[in-house]
Amino acid sequence: MRLIFIGPPGVGKGTQAQLLAVSLKIPKISTGDILREAVEEGTALGREAKRFMDGGKLVPDEVVVGIIRDRIDAPDAKDGYILDGFPRTIPQAEALTVMLSERGEGIDRVLNFDLGDEELVRRLSGRRSCPGCKSVYHVDSAPPKKPGICDRCDASLMTRSDDEPGTVRKRLEVFRSQTTPLIAFYAKNGALHRVDGSGSVEVVRRRVEEAVRTVRS
Ligand code: AMP
Repeated sequence: MRLIFIGPPGVGKGTQAQLLAVSLKIPKISTGDILREAVEEGTALGREAKRFMDGGKLVPDEVVVGIIRDRIDAPDAKDGYILDGFPRTIPQAEALTVMLSERGEGIDRVLNFDLGDEELVRRLSGRRSCPGCKSVYHVDSAPPKKPGICDRCDASLMTRSDDEPGTVRKRLEVFRSQTTPLIAFYAKNGALHRVDGSGSVEVVRRRVEEAVRTVRS
């Protein structure tokens, strides 16, 4: 099953993608995670991406398209995957369509996660993530058992540098202007499904399962 998760920063699509990936036994492919890893490792890709990411801007299309082209060819992605945070622009979506049609494949469903800006800002400012295993927590709604420490791997949790208030506002603005047009793009072929992003992780998880229940595997 090949799925795309679209939604503003903070809507919880990464958390939901992770849960669904485990239950479907397919990888979650997050361009944000791949870029952050490159930044941590200090590779040439990371150095280039950091300039954009720290300002809340999008990394150039050709860079992320290259990342996805390599990643979807990996053996673990042969039975499907969840794309989390890609595509984010119309040129990226067009490039993906071409890549998939070259492989005789298509996207089964696009989940569009929706939530108001006020709640998004609240969620982002309380978000903490593990630099080791990438688990994501929230200080109020999904706190770790020991404050500031990852339940899974004991590492100290961090606030993402792009979750600072000024950058958050810029990221929301970029989402509204550059990523919202994708909703019309995917509405055309009938694969689009809106998911209400409000409520607990468990409540949203049930909505996600319902949204993909009818997709053939
Ligand atoms: P995310 O973790 O998905 O919120 O992504 C964090 C940051 O990585 C974004 O604000 C962008 O700077 C960059 N990024 C992630 N995915 C993409 C993409 N598909 N296109 C361009 N930039 C991206």
